[in-house]
Amino acid sequence: MNFLRNYSIKAQIIIIILIVNFITVTIITAFTILSNIQAAKRNLISNSVVFANLFGEYTVIPFVFDDKERATENLQKASKNPEILNIRVFKGKEMFAGYDKNHEVFEMPEKINSQTSVFSANYLHIYQPIFYKNVEQGSIYMRFSTVNLKRLTRNNILVGVALLVVVLVVSLLMAMRFQRFISQPILRLAKISEGISQSENYSIDLSYKSRDEIGTLYKSFENMMRRIATRQMERDKAIEELSSSEDRFKTISSAAHNGIVVLDKTGLVTFWNQSASGIFGYKADEIKGTNLLTKVILPISSEESKRIEIIHFIEKPQPLQSGKSFETKAITKTGEKIEIELSLSASKIENREIVIAIIKDITSRKNYENNLKKAKEQAEESARLKTAFMANVSHEIRTPMNAIVGFTDLLRSAEVPEPQRIEFINIIHRNSQFLIRMLDNILNLAELQSGKIDFSIKEFNPNAILEDLYYDFERDREESGKRFIVIEKKIPENSNELKVKTDEYRLKQVMLNLLDNALKFTERGSIEFGYKIKRINKIPEVVFFVEDTGIGISSGEQAIIFDSFRQVDNTSRRKFGGCGLGLTISQEIVNLLGGKLWVESEIGKGSIFYVSIPNSGIPENMISDSQKQLADVQTKEIKDWSHLTILVAEDEESNTRFLSEVLKKTKVRLLTAENGEKAVEIFRNEPSINLVLMDLQMPIMDGYEATRLMREINPKIPIIAQTAFAMYNEQKRSKEAGCDDFITKPLRIKELYRVVEKYTEGLKTNA
Ligand code: ADP
Repeated sequence: MNFLRNYSIKAQIIIIILIVNFITVTIITAFTILSNIQAAKRNLISNSVVFANLFGEYTVIPFVFDDKERATENLQKASKNPEILNIRVFKGKEMFAGYDKNHEVFEMPEKINSQTSVFSANYLHIYQPIFYKNVEQGSIYMRFSTVNLKRLTRNNILVGVALLVVVLVVSLLMAMRFQRFISQPILRLAKISEGISQSENYSIDLSYKSRDEIGTLYKSFENMMRRIATRQMERDKAIEELSSSEDRFKTISSAAHNGIVVLDKTGLVTFWNQSASGIFGYKADEIKGTNLLTKVILPISSEESKRIEIIHFIEKPQPLQSGKSFETKAITKTGEKIEIELSLSASKIENREIVIAIIKDITSRKNYENNLKKAKEQAEESARLKTAFMANVSHEIRTPMNAIVGFTDLLRSAEVPEPQRIEFINIIHRNSQFLIRMLDNILNLAELQSGKIDFSIKEFNPNAILEDLYYDFERDREESGKRFIVIEKKIPENSNELKVKTDEYRLKQVMLNLLDNALKFTERGSIEFGYKIKRINKIPEVVFFVEDTGIGISSGEQAIIFDSFRQVDNTSRRKFGGCGLGLTISQEIVNLLGGKLWVESEIGKGSIFYVSIPNSGIPENMISDSQKQLADVQTKEIKDWSHLTILVAEDEESNTRFLSEVLKKTKVRLLTAENGEKAVEIFRNEPSINLVLMDLQMPIMDGYEATRLMREINPKIPIIAQTAFAMYNEQKRSKEAGCDDFITKPLRIKELYRVVEKYTEGLKTNA
């Protein structure tokens, strides 16, 4: 019956009524039909037996008289009854007479058992004995047609079926009418419940009153709906409250500048605000459900102890009031390492333990702190170094000043014999040179560090500079009393075509510093200097060098000697003097020129300082010959300038005298002017002037103005500026005013010679 479940309740009721009625009517009809048939059969048998007895009697007399004809004749009476088909009369076992309707040939069936009547397919067979005077004379057999019986049966069935149909139709109509009584309230209930499920409106009034089960069903349904409606209201209210508090939380959390992250007990992220996305680069969807620790915080072993502490806090959260803060390293989605402040606190939501993490990106603060710390350390270090430097400087100034003042006093106060006088003057001269060099250094460093330095880059052959250096250095060696140290100048063969492109003056300054140091830190052996072609990263470069056989520098010290005011140790300062600026200045200069300054050294064996100069024009033959040894080039001294006239513009009389003393040997004709105005006048009136040595700071008219005026008179005569303290700006300004070159004050004789020669070379040839 389960198939009924697929139908509506209305159909179910109708089907059930029809089935019940069908079964009932079928049983009744079948029973009636069967009993009718049975009655008809019994009727047929009893009629047939009557006929058998009748025809038995018809034939008994002829039978006794053995009159077969009469017997046969009597049997013909059977033709009046259409149901009698055949009659056979037996005397013993032998047939005595017979009747066959329509004379059809017929085989009589054998009698089975002692039954007197037997139904076969379409017939009724009757067997009866024939008695005469109570003595059995023979037997009679009759065969009847059962056509009528069959017709009766068929009619009965037809009537039964018709009855069944009528009953079913009537039942259907009635069921359809009366099923509403049961099905309608149920269907209504079903419809209402469907409507409720769609509209979710649980407040309904069913207004159904009956005392049967459906009435009870309605009542309980109503109660149920009422309860649901109440719960719904409570839930809606709770949801409204929750969503407004969630909205509030979301607004607050997204407006919060700090990352707000909620973790469950296992450390998995359950909430992630916008700022957290901003800090780590992960969107909320990407990170939710992952472990915060393994994802973003501390995959760095140095933070292991903090990591353990954080894990411990998350797994066994402390009560709310004892939250904890950690400063730790984290990693963002893009792999950037950042510093964060992680404040953890425990809480409970719906009875579940959670951990709330407030995260602040403190990378810039940390960087700032670190920079501040570094700056503080640097400031302390530089203050320390400056104090040491001041002590150095004051010592370094005091020592030569004492000598200068002392020996000057001696010279002034007493009659000093000639040999001693010269010795004193030499001492004064040496100490003044030392003072000047130190002042130059300090000024230079100030200029370099303030970035206010310009370079005059040009192409030149470096051999001339090396020659100058050789002269100066030889003199320095004499003055230092280290005559036993061999000086060698080494330049490559065929190097006259070589050009380096850099600032000539600055290169010379650097080399002088290096030579100065070499002399200072070498007690025996030799100092070699010059340049060679070296391949640096496969590119040939001109590399200047100063090599000594002095005390050497350990590898640890090699790293610090280029820092300002650094010396290997204080004892070296005491022993060798100096204030730790030379290498700093040199390195700054070389770096600004785009080159490199470095040292190779071994304690006790000596040092080689290298200066590389990039962008040099190295001739091909020199590149291939670069491995050939360097040639020793000696310098020569030939100064005969008797054909020259030089105008010296100088307001300091001592300087003018110094110049005239120095140039006396060269037989040059010297004209002097104590200010710019006079100098211009002489220049105008003396066309024989070949070169002008111009002091820049002069009364009445300074050197710049005088140069400009002279240029107007004759632009071809070389004008050489004398600049003080190697101030670069003075040099630059003098060039702008029209000077061809400059020499620095105090004048070095060799430099003076070189410059004068350089600018008067053609004149000499002509002479
Ligand atoms: P200083 O004025 O002290 O010479 P520098 O900056 O020129 O200052 O040199 C710094 C330090 O480097 C020196 O004090 C010395 O210890 C070391 N140094 C420089 N050149 C040499 C050298 N050729 N041999 C040994 N040590 C040297």
